Amino acid sequence: MTAVDKDCMVWPEVDDDGYGRDSRGRLMHRVAYESAAGSVPVGLELDHLCRNRACYEPTHLEAVTHRENMRRVDWSFRNKTHCPEGHPYDEVNTYVDTRGFKVCRTCQRVASLAHYRANRDLINERKRARRMAMA
Ligand SMILES: [Zn+2]
Ligand SMILES: [Zn+2]
Repeated sequence: MTAVDKDCMVWPEVDDDGYGRDSRGRLMHRVAYESAAGSVPVGLELDHLCRNRACYEPTHLEAVTHRENMRRVDWSFRNKTHCPEGHPYDEVNTYVDTRGFKVCRTCQRVASLAHYRANRDLINERKRARRMAMA
């Protein structure tokens, strides 16, 4: 769902995050917005209503608070049904962390197991050293 659905002006040069940058490295959507609507008020950031980061059409941009911008990001994230690895975000497999993000239990388990395996020798070494010290 977008408030605008067409006529994006897409800048051909984008950075790693997909934002259009001009030859001086400035964010193109910010430059375009400021020349059309004036400078972005302090404390606000520009949100792409069209969800197209490379777009610099000023009418597709809205100056919002960081909180509002993050809320919009969360909204799409919360509605995901599967984690990046394709595990389902169902009741059993999901918990919500302190920031309100969904966390996949399967991925967490895999990650902590991998962490344990990678550090097993080190952990055992420490245990042995502790036993030696106590003896
Ligand atoms: Zn657009
Ligand atoms: Zn997962």
